[in-house]
Amino acid sequence: MERFRMELESLSRNEEFARVVVAVFMSRLDPTLEEIDDVKTAVSEAVTNAEIHGYGGESGTITVEVETEGKELTVVVEDYGVGIRDVEKAMEPMFTTDKTGTRSGMGFSFMEAFMDQVHVESEPGKGTKVVMRK
Ligand code: ATP
Ligand code: MG
Repeated sequence: MERFRMELESLSRNEEFARVVVAVFMSRLDPTLEEIDDVKTAVSEAVTNAEIHGYGGESGTITVEVETEGKELTVVVEDYGVGIRDVEKAMEPMFTTDKTGTRSGMGFSFMEAFMDQVHVESEPGKGTKVVMRK
């Protein structure tokens, strides 16, 4: 078992950083390019959500944890922001709380499509933890 954990400021440029670092770490598992792309997309969606929804564009800490066990990869993206009142509802395809019309409400659906398992724990006022396995 190997793992690493990093803390990021919730800045938009850190979304790419998280995505690339996770990709480099998972390359030890000798994945296909498609598998790497899937995980990068999922990480990108989760980190973007933490930045724009969790912290609403304000500063805050996002932690990204990756663990490999044999061929299995677990990625955990966590924020300590506003949290989600109804997780089940939030995860429905096309559900968004965005009022600007720029979001399509497909982030969680992409995470579920590109990873084998997605589990979300959240508490209003405490934050959100997204656990994804592949
Ligand atoms: P898209 O991802 O397509 O740009 P979106 O971010 O609104 O749009 P999802 O990623 O599926 O869609 O998230 C659905 C909703 O869940 C969000 O609109 C938001 O209300 C809530 N949400 C998601 N992640 C978080 C988070 N980390 N903290 C607080 N709320 C969140
Ligand atoms: Mg999203």
